[in-house]
Amino acid sequence: MTEQHRHARPKSPQELRAAALETVLIEKGLASTDAIDALVDAFEQEIGPQNGARMVARAWVDPAYRERLLRDAAGAAAELGFGGAEGDHMRAVENTPDVHNVIVCTLCSCYPWPVLGIPPVWYKSPPYRARVVREPRAVLTEFGLELGPDVEVRVWDSSAELRYIVLPMRPEGTDGMSEEELAELVTRDCMIGVAVPRVGAAA
Ligand code: FE
Repeated sequence: MTEQHRHARPKSPQELRAAALETVLIEKGLASTDAIDALVDAFEQEIGPQNGARMVARAWVDPAYRERLLRDAAGAAAELGFGGAEGDHMRAVENTPDVHNVIVCTLCSCYPWPVLGIPPVWYKSPPYRARVVREPRAVLTEFGLELGPDVEVRVWDSSAELRYIVLPMRPEGTDGMSEEELAELVTRDCMIGVAVPRVGAAA
């Protein structure tokens, strides 16, 4: 573990209790990992990423906000009322026709909580963490994202000091959409970089 990548936050009593309860419930056959994952997934989809989606939509309609987001993501988040634990130091990385960005935490699960919620199970999984660095295109293909051969894929390794959010490209065919409608196109996976926003494939 390096100075630049410091993760080891002591687990809180609540976290330890939650982990112990989950283990016991599964061992006793009272709950399945799938059921727990589904609950966590609902939390992730409904209680977090919509914040990041609002920032993305704002950046799409307001060039000055986009510039502030790229310069100081935590400040841009605070403008919309988002901030707090695990979000003090954030950087937004912008997709362009030539560059596609993906985020990971190779050592554990650092993630910008205030704008994306809690990380999905796969984000924390050793295979994703190892493979997205080694073979990002293969991983993206498994997520259903095919990029042109000329697109450069950049993988950003999050840490406790700096957490990333992807600013995706605004999709074609969205000219008449309101900021609110645009935000609905931006899923959690778009802001991790394993998907891109698509019209008609809303969150
Ligand atoms: Fe981490």
